[in-house]
Amino acid sequence: MSMTNATQKALDGEPTRDVGSILIAGAGIGGLATALALAKRGIASTVLERRSAFEPEGAGIQIGPNGTRILAELGVADELEPLAGKPDAVHARNALSGASLARLPLGKWIEARHRAPYWVLHRQDLHAALLKSARESRIISIMTGFDVASAAMERDRVSIQDKGGRRLDGDALIAADGLRSHLRGELFDAPPLRFAGRSAARAVIPFEAMPEPLRENATTLWMSPRAHVVHYPVRGAREVAVIFVRKDTIASDDWSTAIPNAWVTDIAEGFAPILRELLETPPQWKKWALYELPPLPFWNLDRVALLGDAAHPTLPFMAQGAVLALEDAAVLARAVAERPADLPRALALYASARRHRASRVVAAAKSNGRIYHLDGMAAHARDATLRMAPPTMLMSRYDWIYGWRP
Ligand SMILES: Cc1cc2nc3c(=O)[nH]c(=O)nc-3n(C[C@H](O)[C@H](O)[C@H](O)COP(=O)(O)OP(=O)(O)OC[C@H]3O[C@@H](n4cnc5c(N)ncnc54)[C@H](O)[C@@H]3O)c2cc1C
Repeated sequence: MSMTNATQKALDGEPTRDVGSILIAGAGIGGLATALALAKRGIASTVLERRSAFEPEGAGIQIGPNGTRILAELGVADELEPLAGKPDAVHARNALSGASLARLPLGKWIEARHRAPYWVLHRQDLHAALLKSARESRIISIMTGFDVASAAMERDRVSIQDKGGRRLDGDALIAADGLRSHLRGELFDAPPLRFAGRSAARAVIPFEAMPEPLRENATTLWMSPRAHVVHYPVRGAREVAVIFVRKDTIASDDWSTAIPNAWVTDIAEGFAPILRELLETPPQWKKWALYELPPLPFWNLDRVALLGDAAHPTLPFMAQGAVLALEDAAVLARAVAERPADLPRALALYASARRHRASRVVAAAKSNGRIYHLDGMAAHARDATLRMAPPTMLMSRYDWIYGWRP
């Protein structure tokens, strides 16, 4: 699509002469957001993506106010708004009895509290909006089919090579190459990912396919010792993303391993009938194994820095994986813009501003996972707390997450 000069100007900031071009490995959520955040400050970048094309993959992704605020700053919120689900509440339920335990407020309450909305999106829609905006920028180049295999520091440059031996130079390299980051292992001597012993099955179904009593505008969370289930409306409430998390022994290594429905329904034997009905609805579930990595001691090395899942893989139980990548992008762009003549220092400041927060969110996600799968008396105590505590008080405990600002 051709654009007027005025539109292009609105996308990109004034050019910054001190920085030539930043290389970004990975055109996922974090890599594209970083390119856009840099472009807003007039800094050019080249985004290298291993895939030769962007396939329609993924399912639901939740974006709290700390993330939607950044999407607005990047200029993609207007495009996403009609596609976003805007749940009124987190509806906590017991998966075995079906009992409704609490409705923690989202919707208008959280938007007023943090001055930004809580959205639930299809990952494809989020990725497509970031990609479209990046393609429209005059100072962002995107190369697909470029699988970054190595990087070398050369005085005041970074040189990277892809698997086919193609070479590119830049002023700095941001490794946003995701959960299985190759650069994290190669340059940061990081330990291997550890399979968390759990996998998530995901499906997206039409809203009308939902059992009638479950058709509500909420992020619904069903908890049980064996598994937990989350579902929420996406694509402007035309579809519903359903996620089922259980113990597993087989660590698949992509986002979309097709699995037999029995992988879900066998575990759901003792669940409330209405929940079982929902879990029997999707024609096909896709599995995604969950991984952990202890906090890394450092994320930056001279002119290279890790970002997003490459820096801090997280379990999805706080729904903050994509949002942390957006936060990283905002902080990194500011640090580079403030110190364009000293990029190693800029990357060091970015890493020190982010490491503690990312570790804290990752720990909170892990702790949520334990709470969702409590058993016996501990599960009774959890359910009683949810029933009795004021919902706004329960939600306010997450102010430190949703109230974050770059
Ligand atoms: C196909 C796909 C589907 C996903 N679906 C979901 C979902 O449904 N729900 C959810 O919560 N999360 C999903 N995620 C993960 C989610 O996007 C991330 O956890 C989060 O957004 C953090 O973003 P990120 O940029 O760090 O990583 P990602 O968004 O995973 O992006 C990493 C990118 O780097 C590319 N890459 C990897 N290695 C190299 C290399 N050597 N050279 C160049 N490029 C490389 C990858 O192809 C990918 O495009 C998905 C990720 C992918 C890649």
